Amino acid sequence: MEKEIGQFFYINKIPVFGCCRIGDEEKSKIYLTEKIVRKINTAIVFGIPLSKGVIANLIDGPDLLYLHHYRQANYLLDKISYQLASLLEEKGYLSIPVPASQIIDWKKQKALLSHKYFACLCGLGWLGRNNLIVNSVYRSRLRFTTVLTELVIEKTNEVVEFGCGNCKNCVRMCPAGAISEKAEQFDHIKCFEKIKEMTKKKNISQYICGLCIKACEKWD
Ligand code: SF4
Ligand code: SF4
Repeated sequence: MEKEIGQFFYINKIPVFGCCRIGDEEKSKIYLTEKIVRKINTAIVFGIPLSKGVIANLIDGPDLLYLHHYRQANYLLDKISYQLASLLEEKGYLSIPVPASQIIDWKKQKALLSHKYFACLCGLGWLGRNNLIVNSVYRSRLRFTTVLTELVIEKTNEVVEFGCGNCKNCVRMCPAGAISEKAEQFDHIKCFEKIKEMTKKKNISQYICGLCIKACEKWD
């Protein structure tokens, strides 16, 4: 089945993917019914890059081009995870395509699971100072989603060590002052409040920003 999954990603031109086993600790971070969570053995996480051009076009916050692109990327991720979950279920393995972007509790900013948490476990990058996954090739431009499955697959990649080093590009770029030297000191509230303000001002119907993605990119 691993070979088929690899082929599936190849055919769908998915550049970044990995798997990790789900133990008790990981299960405690999945907000589905206990009965289903008990059955899950593996998280398959995959990512697609946002367009470098769209990110380069951002000036002082989100714009309509980015909004459309962001939605299309999520749509594509959802489509592919739907197909992957269907493939796995055809083979007899209960599977759940987790939505790429869906908040189930706005107050606590909680989703069914954190794609970033599982992307880290799958070795797809490190959690950067900007609270996004930083990948050696695509920097912070990847959007991720996860398929949970009953199928048992062994871990594919080693966890990647924190690699921001002395870089502070996103710290300087963030208009909210939400990013600190220590990644764990990322201020979610400052970030969220600033995003709310920017999206309202520009009449953008989704909480997005994009500036710390831009800051993390290597521009020639
Ligand atoms: S999303 Fe925007 S406001 Fe939030 S940390 Fe990144 S740059 Fe700052
Ligand atoms: S811009 Fe620099 S400090 Fe910020 S996440 Fe990227 S590599 Fe890390």
